[in-house]
Amino acid sequence: MPITVKALQKTGPDAPFEVREIERRDPRASDVVIDIEAAGICHSDIHTIRQEWGEVTYPLAVGHEIAGVVSAVGEGVTRFQVGDRVGVGCMVNSCGECEQCEAGEEQACLRGMVGTYAATDVDGSVTQGGYSQKVTVDERFVLRIPDGLELDEAAPLLCAGITSYSPLARWGVTEGDKVAVVGLGGLGHMGVQLAAAMGAEVTVLSRSLKKEEMARELGAERLLATSEEGFFDAHAGQFDLILNTVSAAIPLDDYLGLLKPHGVLACVGAPPEPLPVQMFSLIMGGKVLTGSNIGGIAETQEMLDFCAEHGLGARIERIGIDDVDGAYERVVDGDVLFRFVIDTSTFEDAEPVG
Ligand code: NAP
Ligand code: ZN
Repeated sequence: MPITVKALQKTGPDAPFEVREIERRDPRASDVVIDIEAAGICHSDIHTIRQEWGEVTYPLAVGHEIAGVVSAVGEGVTRFQVGDRVGVGCMVNSCGECEQCEAGEEQACLRGMVGTYAATDVDGSVTQGGYSQKVTVDERFVLRIPDGLELDEAAPLLCAGITSYSPLARWGVTEGDKVAVVGLGGLGHMGVQLAAAMGAEVTVLSRSLKKEEMARELGAERLLATSEEGFFDAHAGQFDLILNTVSAAIPLDDYLGLLKPHGVLACVGAPPEPLPVQMFSLIMGGKVLTGSNIGGIAETQEMLDFCAEHGLGARIERIGIDDVDGAYERVVDGDVLFRFVIDTSTFEDAEPVG
């Protein structure tokens, strides 16, 4: 028997969120059922449910920063038990057999990974995300949340954390590297903490000086306002790596100019529109322009363990299910310090509409 739970869904791109009932599958042999305690709001949720990245099927619940406690397991589950503190990020399935899956890069599965929401699952249903009371997930895609990390501060690590960690690790950020993080939002504030913990000298590039004090508190040496007159000339050639977390279009040529020769501009921000690049911005100085998509499951566990070891977590604003529409507006305005996390216990008294 499927499990009926409440979820926060939209029925169209401009509709408000509504509490509706959805079904989670009864656990198959390798499945884990999770009672969700906290669900982070990622800017990707907003891009997706507003159809900024393309059409989706409604009604839809988003949310891929999920933390909770295991409440049931299938008979073949070996790694988890009822009561374990766990998380789920952006993926809930992949083929498990291709070269990429075998290399632990499930996010790049050659047959296409199944996203936590708005994706077609192996059984043909549309996946529903974490703004919900429970979720059923194959144990391969369940992460262990180390003791010492609060569940609500850990939830955003499942997307914002791994998305920032993976390119910093891939490009070998280490002691003394000069790293800039562009955009101090959900991803950016994790990027700053992680790069600082890896030993880098971190500079935040923000639109204004408003978040200067917070940037220092997160471990940055300084925050610079990109709106400053002559900014890109004044700071040319300074950084080994720039992590671009901005959800909107930015002038890539200008940012490439801030790199040292052979420096890396790693883009994780995913604005819907194409961004132009002058080839000479890459050719002169042999710069690297690259992107990065979340990270594999093993690397996500590595990141969670790294955060626990270094005492890092997301800085969050806790909200109830009634606050999510307003929170979306604030995220789009860059007005959140630094991640909204939905307390899913607020579903309890809600009357579902459908
Ligand atoms: P967020 O919390 O809204 O942060 C984005 C930050 O970008 C803002 O805080 C703001 O920083 C800056 N910003 C916003 N609009 C801007 C503009 N017009 N010009 C310049 N800067 C601007 O979003 P998020 O959740 O961190 O996500 C950021 C992006 O990453 C989104 O596009 C999301 O879809 C994408 N993403 C990608 C992956 C991946 O795997 N690649 C994973 C998750 C998310 P300041 O106020 O400091 O300027
Ligand atoms: Zn995300």
